[in-house]
Amino acid sequence: MCAELSLDDHAHTAYDTTVASGGFRLTRQRREVYEALLETRDHPSAVQVFMRAQKRMPTISLATVYNCLETLTQVGLVRQVNFDRGPSRFCPNAHPHGHFMCTRCHHVHDVDVPDAAALSRVWQLPNNYVVTQSEFSLRGLCPECVVAANDAE
Ligand SMILES: [Zn+2]
Ligand SMILES: [Zn+2]
Repeated sequence: MCAELSLDDHAHTAYDTTVASGGFRLTRQRREVYEALLETRDHPSAVQVFMRAQKRMPTISLATVYNCLETLTQVGLVRQVNFDRGPSRFCPNAHPHGHFMCTRCHHVHDVDVPDAAALSRVWQLPNNYVVTQSEFSLRGLCPECVVAANDAE
């Protein structure tokens, strides 16, 4: 494996900046896990990431994938997405965004968030509270499932 896999420019920049600034070591395993996540942006679970990473690196273990995901989450390259049931899913989208989960097919889609100033007007925060982190999760039906639900009626 010597060919550089094609990542989009943004991902490259985020990764390189984080690696350079955080004292975060770029191990081959972490890179493979991160690239497996970037490859298909469908918010896979750890087990799905493991299966993808295994194709690139057959010797990688599930425990290693969990460790890599934890580290990538800690340094902020990856976000962990939790919905009430089911395993955590992972997202490498570094832009501020929320998650829309279709309650019928369980696909998770990224939804762009308006600017931070607009958001602080939406929430009536008590005085002197400062938001340092926010997560948005929305539930509903994706377009295909809206059509399927109408057909079923
Ligand atoms: Zn996402
Ligand atoms: Zn759906």
